[in-house]
Amino acid sequence: MLGESLTRRIRQGIEIRNEEAEIENCKGEKIVVLVNVAVLAEKNEEIGTLCVVKNITEIKRAERRLKSNEERLKDLIESTSEWIWETDDKGAIIYSGAGIKSILGYEVKEVLGREVSGIMPEGESKRFMECLVNVKRTGKPFSRFVTFGFHKNTGSKVIIESNGVPVYDEIGVFKGCRGASRDITGVKTAQESLDRMVEELRRSNVELERFAYVVSHDLKEPLRMVASYVKLLQKRYRDKLDKDADEFIDFAANGAERMSRLIDDILEYSRVSTRGSEFEKVAVKEVIARVLDILRFKIKDSGARINVEGDLPEIIADPHQLTQVFQNLLENAVKFSRTGEPEIKISAEISEDTVCFRVADNGIGIKKDYAEKIFDVFQRLHSMDEYDGTGIGLAIVKKIIERHSGNIWVESPGEGFGSVFVFTIPHKK
Ligand code: ADP
Repeated sequence: MLGESLTRRIRQGIEIRNEEAEIENCKGEKIVVLVNVAVLAEKNEEIGTLCVVKNITEIKRAERRLKSNEERLKDLIESTSEWIWETDDKGAIIYSGAGIKSILGYEVKEVLGREVSGIMPEGESKRFMECLVNVKRTGKPFSRFVTFGFHKNTGSKVIIESNGVPVYDEIGVFKGCRGASRDITGVKTAQESLDRMVEELRRSNVELERFAYVVSHDLKEPLRMVASYVKLLQKRYRDKLDKDADEFIDFAANGAERMSRLIDDILEYSRVSTRGSEFEKVAVKEVIARVLDILRFKIKDSGARINVEGDLPEIIADPHQLTQVFQNLLENAVKFSRTGEPEIKISAEISEDTVCFRVADNGIGIKKDYAEKIFDVFQRLHSMDEYDGTGIGLAIVKKIIERHSGNIWVESPGEGFGSVFVFTIPHKK
């Protein structure tokens, strides 16, 4: 059972110490045993042999598993671009993966036993030591700790992000830290330039808005003067000059009026982000009721039928701006109707984190090519003779929706088939 060699040596009374053997048990299964044989003697006389055979199959299996786990871990540590490290409680590096080479250019043997201060600038290693002290004090891991160092060969600055956990010995005494670090220079640089661009854009936007506001505000005064004097001319000299003169004065009066509307719209547009109110809980049902009341004459004149389908939720929004959104969309739905009675449907669909509103009409529709353009300032698809307007209503709507972190778009099967304006607003339960 124990194999030829072992059996022979036991028979011969040869001592055996901790010898492993693979044998078959009575069920025919292969097991590993540890064999110890001692020769018993009395007065120099051999009186027998003591043979102890211990089944160590499970221990061997566990050993194999442990070894394979260790190898897997070693392979991972060596192949990852992250730097896996361990320091003692004084900040000396007592373990290092090969990742240090790609991050800071050092060989593993160059950093082993070295203090962190040996491979990082003074201020940064001081910060790392403070982090270590904090881990020791709180017992808590740290994550996304950002420091920087300089590459050993190129001297270039490397921004490093690290995570780490405390390490304790068998009796719970703090021994140091182990963790992983990665080079985030590229990400950080890209992030910084993106942040700079966003900031520049924000500033230039604010400047542009201020400019639009100031210019339109300042233009209003002289325009008011022009308009009132042209009106005076109209009143005082109608039918007193020739026919041409009456027509020219009418053109001037219409032009002044249109310009005044344009300026008001630009002012309105520039106020969306600067003069918005705080967000609050708004019942959309009440907003729609208010808008229908504001538009009651236009609705009556056009013979439009406006239906609210299903329930309308409460959302967090600027109530005045939300009113403006629905007012502009409904005004357009009534205005851009085909001949016949406009039919308009309003609905809302609540999903996990957004509410999706739809304002659908059966009007003239919009060609696909213009579906995005119409949201730009002064973009109109028709002449003033066909449909009155300044071309800024949808731009204001879009700006308001964006201020609410939502999106807006139009769905239209094409010209003559109606339009559906869809917008989303984040929904916080
Ligand atoms: P305005 O209504 O003053 O022209 P808007 O910014 O509100 O300006 O709309 C821009 C253009 O988008 C309109 O001139 C029109 O061509 C188109 N549009 C807007 N709403 C609709 C609609 N419901 N149906 C068809 N076209 C529309």
